[in-house]
Amino acid sequence: MIYQDQLDFAAMRQYASALKERAKLAGATGEVSAIMLRDRILESSGRCEWCGCNLVGAEIELDHVVSLARGGGHTPANLVVACPDCNRRKAQKHPARFAVEICSESGIRTNLVAKILAQYQVEASRQLPLFAATSDRQKREAADLAEAAKPLPYRWED
Ligand SMILES: [Zn+2]
Repeated sequence: MIYQDQLDFAAMRQYASALKERAKLAGATGEVSAIMLRDRILESSGRCEWCGCNLVGAEIELDHVVSLARGGGHTPANLVVACPDCNRRKAQKHPARFAVEICSESGIRTNLVAKILAQYQVEASRQLPLFAATSDRQKREAADLAEAAKPLPYRWED
């Protein structure tokens, strides 16, 4: 679907029904109509809610913040507008993990990234070394550093 001032309602209806099908297969609860979808898309103001890139006139996708595979609901509140690149990269990742990735790579904190970091009480500068570490030794060191800091409610699980 292309983001434009006049959103194509037929395309939106098609997209809504494709999402519904996927949600049904995943056993997710909730309902997102074409109108809810349109409202969500307009709220994004034509920007990827993850990385903030401009999507006016470009392909947009809808991403379940908490993926359906992780038990996320198929609701407007759990849907964000994403560029295809972010949607691909995030896939089934935990939203907090992806928020840290985006934030540490680009330094950009979109409203969504800021909201997710706050919600899961993670701080990019503290959490990043945990999954940037490649060797076991680096992982242990990063874990020790994180341990020395105040305990965090979210623990990287993947
Ligand atoms: Zn993006």
